[in-house]
Amino acid sequence: MALYKYSTHLAQSDHAAFDAKEKPGTVVVNSGIYRCATCGDEIAANKGNPLPPQNHHQHPNKAPIEWQLLVCSVQK
Ligand SMILES: [Zn+2]
Repeated sequence: MALYKYSTHLAQSDHAAFDAKEKPGTVVVNSGIYRCATCGDEIAANKGNPLPPQNHHQHPNKAPIEWQLLVCSVQK
């Protein structure tokens, strides 16, 4: 689970970008922290770069890796 200390620097959002589940290797359009919807593993990804490949981590039951945006960085 992602952690933070100062809640004044985070804001809740209902944007649809947080609902999409992306496959390994997908080039992301949002920089931020992504969470595997299957196991809870978390990674940081940069806009324009691919998410980690399928062999980044494995699930015991061979369930697919599905990355979901957890915290979106807002760049000025
Ligand atoms: Zn996983």
